[in-house]
Amino acid sequence: MDNAMENCIFCKIARGEIPAEVVWKDEHVLVFKDIHPATPKHFLAIPLEHIPTVNDADANNAAILGRLFVAAAETAKKFGFAESGYRCVVNCNRDAGQELFHLHMHIMAGKKFGWPPG
Ligand code: AMP
Ligand code: ZN
Repeated sequence: MDNAMENCIFCKIARGEIPAEVVWKDEHVLVFKDIHPATPKHFLAIPLEHIPTVNDADANNAAILGRLFVAAAETAKKFGFAESGYRCVVNCNRDAGQELFHLHMHIMAGKKFGWPPG
């Protein structure tokens, strides 16, 4: 295993080495509760594969990244906010405030969001 995967918090969650409140999973994607929720409902969907940022998206991982949206739809249905609405956010690098360099989709709900974001 390379160093990035060895030390990555989300890879550790994917390997079951550190706990997380998992709410949904399939063979490629895991969804769990954000440890510091920024909205009343706040989940993270991660690919099990270590993909650092959106900049690393390519044709080889397109299907897996597409599955993040399937996971978001399933989570929204499961927690009852599909119809009221929710926001899917993927931060990339410094200007977006990405802190953990294992690509993840924030699935956020339970409030009315403003647009455009500040
Ligand atoms: P980002 O700024 O897009 O990289 O978001 C990282 C997110 O990961 C933040 O919302 C954190 O609260 C969340 N987070 C960090 N560590 C954990 C963890 N061990 N379990 C669940 N969520 C986490
Ligand atoms: Zn990782």
